Amino acid sequence: MTSLPDHRSSKRLGLVIDLDVCVGCHACAVNCKEWNSGGVAAPLTDLNPYDEDPLGVWFNRVHTYETGDGGQGRTVHFPRSCLHCDEPACVTVCPTGASYKRAEDGIVLVNEDICIGCKLCSWACPYGAREYDYDAGVMKKCTLCIDRIYNENLAAEDRVPACVATCPTSARHFGDLGDPDSDISKLVRERGGYDLMPEMGYKPVNQYLAPRPRRTEAAALGAASQLQPLSPDSAGGLLGWIDRLLSN
Ligand code: SF4
Ligand code: SF4
Repeated sequence: MTSLPDHRSSKRLGLVIDLDVCVGCHACAVNCKEWNSGGVAAPLTDLNPYDEDPLGVWFNRVHTYETGDGGQGRTVHFPRSCLHCDEPACVTVCPTGASYKRAEDGIVLVNEDICIGCKLCSWACPYGAREYDYDAGVMKKCTLCIDRIYNENLAAEDRVPACVATCPTSARHFGDLGDPDSDISKLVRERGGYDLMPEMGYKPVNQYLAPRPRRTEAAALGAASQLQPLSPDSAGGLLGWIDRLLSN
């Protein structure tokens, strides 16, 4: 089994994903696959891509759901990738040390050279974020584009994960969630950023921002100019609903 680092930096790199403005265009998923197929992760395979049962490796997937009825109905687009958890059992169950969490910035990675493809980590991840590569026989996952974010050959503004760089609605934000003064931490505070499935105890670094109430609903409440996020815990809370869905 694999240990988590004893001495961690306060740096916690991660993503904040705004479900209020994600339009489900899949640009993030496609650019992720494009970048990572040529970068440190090596080709992300596709098996039978045009058959009825296509299979392939995608570090980032976007799921689309309908929720609510009638005037309360809405479509929610839910991008899903590794959340770079602070207490990741995907690491501690690994029998070879292939899965590890970096002490210096909290990124969770897989060393494909010593991964034996046992899939224990994918069973341990409650978010379905691990991707088994049937061609290579190893587990793969989001690297937070480690070969972009520290790449001094790129312009400073391009040193962000590929998914963040390509999102046309700025639904994705990258930064240090361990720094309370970072822009991304301020955004989480302002919008009430939310852990997915906190009851699991994995302490995900990535945060989600809940969809705001529909404009008509807010107007009826006289609050159109000060929209508040839907509470994840309320009966109609969309993040609570997503939590329940992920738990099934
Ligand atoms: Fe591990 Fe899953 Fe958490 Fe990523 S989301 S660190 S794969 S448990
Ligand atoms: Fe949503 Fe942005 Fe991804 Fe498009 S690129 S699916 S808007 S997160």
